[in-house]
Amino acid sequence: MAKVLIIGAGGVGTVVAHKCAQNPDVFTEIVLASRTRSKCEAIARKIGGGRITTDSVDADSVEQLVELFNRHKPDIVINVALPYQDLTIMDACLECGVNYLDTANYEPRDVAHFEYSWQWAYKEKFEKAGLTAILGCGFDPGVSGVFTAYAAKHYFSDMEYLDIVDCNAGDHGKAFATNFNPEINIREITQNGRYYQDGQWVTTGPLEIHKALTYPNIGPRDSYLLYHEELESLVKNYPSIKRARFWMTFGQEYLTHLRVIQDIGMARIDEIDYNGQKIVPLQFLKAVLPNPQDLGENYTGETSIGCRIEGLDKEKNHLTYYIYNNCSHEAAYRETGMQAVSYTTGVPAMIGAMMFLTGKWVKPGVHNVEEFDPDPFMEQLNVQGLPWNEQFNIDLEV
Ligand code: NDP
Repeated sequence: MAKVLIIGAGGVGTVVAHKCAQNPDVFTEIVLASRTRSKCEAIARKIGGGRITTDSVDADSVEQLVELFNRHKPDIVINVALPYQDLTIMDACLECGVNYLDTANYEPRDVAHFEYSWQWAYKEKFEKAGLTAILGCGFDPGVSGVFTAYAAKHYFSDMEYLDIVDCNAGDHGKAFATNFNPEINIREITQNGRYYQDGQWVTTGPLEIHKALTYPNIGPRDSYLLYHEELESLVKNYPSIKRARFWMTFGQEYLTHLRVIQDIGMARIDEIDYNGQKIVPLQFLKAVLPNPQDLGENYTGETSIGCRIEGLDKEKNHLTYYIYNNCSHEAAYRETGMQAVSYTTGVPAMIGAMMFLTGKWVKPGVHNVEEFDPDPFMEQLNVQGLPWNEQFNIDLEV
């Protein structure tokens, strides 16, 4: 008997709810709560079978969260609201004795800056409370860390070069749209790039470094170096890594729109005065852009996300290794009504909670995914809709 509480009823929350409902032997009770209850009710109706109970909460308020937790008494919370809510939800978990999982690290609203320090600072409190917090359990961060842990466990003695490569070769037919929350997405990709080399972080201009990388079943795509949060934990947990980078593909059309949005000030995250009302331009832009949850219906093509790793194998011979998943937008939509970006985030979040509830990932404290045994998680990826493939001793192109 295990009760899960999902917070957030966006694209990712919809997928998490579907996937938990598909695994009734693990998730015997499911509660879905978000700021707008009607969205939770619509998802519950679509899933049917009386599987999902709904509620509402403002997750910026620890007091409201504590009331919600006391009402439902969940075993674990899956936080798929926004990164701004991570700390309030973790505080409420500590107050009520609830375990925690999320897919994105904490970000303060007023600076587009992400790092794990704020959440790692909760380690001792979770340890003392005997509670497990699993950080960054979507695809990237998430599966990217599990893939790396799997490579370290089974193939490498020393991983030296790690490149996480994220390609969306899908087409949603819109001139411009983001695949997950536009505010979070635009904050992420307009900031400086950063990568790790020889013990130091190297900063680049936003999207300054790019190269064509070839993705399986897709072909070559221009890929841009971004800073991504899992790099921080992976270089800490695997000290043999000499260089770690993250690449994401963008089309020219997308980049042109992005440049215009920035040039005209619509990517600003500070408050401005508009006719006597305070607005944040990026939040206003979110209100007029297509809703990522509505993109799925006409989305064609697929995503391909994986890790390209070079180093020494268990016998100290040189090894190159590529592990990846390709996910079809159409198949994701058929199953859950959401596109592949929400799907590839929501499925691993459900699997992470499953790992905890089945006793495989129970470790009091605050942990990134690579600190747990990757094997049972990897098995479930194959079962739950995100099968993976491996290639050995190939040209990694990076
Ligand atoms: P959406 O914007 O579609 O959904 C966010 C949901 O959270 C909405 O239902 C929203 O409610 C709710 N919410 C926002 N603020 C609050 C609040 N204060 N209290 C309660 N609920 C709130 O986002 P996505 O589903 O696209 O993304 C969800 C999370 O997944 C984000 O943190 C994102 O960064 C992360 N992500 C992680 C990825 C990974 O691979 N690791 C990839 C993609 C996303 P309302 O509807 O009322 O606004």
